[in-house]
Amino acid sequence: MTILENVSLRDRTTFSVGGQARFLVEVHDETELKDAVAYAKEKGLAYLPLGGGSNVLVSDDGYDGLIIVIHMKGIERVDDPDGRHARLFVSAGEDWDSFVAYAVKESLWGVENLSGIPGTVGASPVQNIGAYGSEVKDTIESVRAYDCENECIVELSNAECEFGYRTSIWKRERVHPLIVTRVTYRLSRRATPKLSYKDLALYFEREGVLNPSLEHIRSAVLEIRAGKFPDLSAVGTAGSFWKNPTVSQIVYRELVLRYPGLPSFPAHDGAVKLPLAWILDRVCNLRGHTHGRAALYENQPLVLIAFPGCTSFEIESLVSHVSSLVHHTTGIVIEREVVNIG
Ligand SMILES: Cc1cc2nc3c(=O)[nH]c(=O)nc-3n(C[C@H](O)[C@H](O)[C@H](O)COP(=O)(O)OP(=O)(O)OC[C@H]3O[C@@H](n4cnc5c(N)ncnc54)[C@H](O)[C@@H]3O)c2cc1C
Repeated sequence: MTILENVSLRDRTTFSVGGQARFLVEVHDETELKDAVAYAKEKGLAYLPLGGGSNVLVSDDGYDGLIIVIHMKGIERVDDPDGRHARLFVSAGEDWDSFVAYAVKESLWGVENLSGIPGTVGASPVQNIGAYGSEVKDTIESVRAYDCENECIVELSNAECEFGYRTSIWKRERVHPLIVTRVTYRLSRRATPKLSYKDLALYFEREGVLNPSLEHIRSAVLEIRAGKFPDLSAVGTAGSFWKNPTVSQIVYRELVLRYPGLPSFPAHDGAVKLPLAWILDRVCNLRGHTHGRAALYENQPLVLIAFPGCTSFEIESLVSHVSSLVHHTTGIVIEREVVNIG
């Protein structure tokens, strides 16, 4: 285990902004992970796990602690005796989209709509990644993690992960005492397509395909996503910066009177989820809005982009402008999806 000092985090995140980590270590198995956490505790350092760095914003001042980069690899498949499902035991450092490609190649259903999401398997339960009508919680059977406080390995059932819309136990516990080392997915060996999401439904309607194959769904999702997200080699981004807000039925009825055509989706307990991109675009007129070297992406205003040389200060200024404008105009308080480091 090699502890590196003063490592640029800009190069390890898709936003490509921010300062250095005072210390950084790459861990390849649970023993190295335990040693890394023990090192941080012994030195009195703050510590934080990092996967692919695709959902974080690093401050210009960097991180005054130990960043633990999760590099554990391996996928193991065990078929259920019922012949209908397979369990996949996937190490936390595996690339998420490579895992999806693997599942599709193995003719296993359940994660194909989540094709193309950057990052690692270990981070997939953290914000319960979701896209195109699917959420990863529906395929996760359990999560193996290192409990840094009690210094032991634990296995959390799906219910114990407390999944919700872009949230889980990892989001609720601010101190990150549980570091994911492996995720067990239960995928279906029988076709279970989920095609009701508008963009996907329209895609297959246009193609005139009623029963698309697993490969076809994956390639459709990748094609649709390519039009929604910028080229990561040209600009930095962490994808959608904010969550879609959830409001009560009463608030929704008031809003739709003011903004006719405001779309809505059913959320938990009778609440209503609103597409923030629509509000940013049609209500606040913010599509493409630029602040210094930070901007809202033309093709999808929920996606915040950073041009080369951008600082976290410029991003935070844009974020506070957008948040205040949305609040001032609609009364809605918007919540970030992206995690701050430092
Ligand atoms: C272009 C683009 C498109 C995106 N599209 C989507 C999308 O469609 N849907 C969606 O849900 N997300 C999307 N995202 C966000 C992001 O890809 C996901 O949140 C992803 O799961 C982050 O994985 P990561 O390994 O990069 O996590 P990181 O960014 O490295 O970490 C994110 C958080 O998870 C914690 N963490 C990381 N690894 C572990 C671990 N092993 N144990 C415990 N905590 C850990 C970190 O401490 C941090 O708090 C997108 C991002 C980009 C850049």
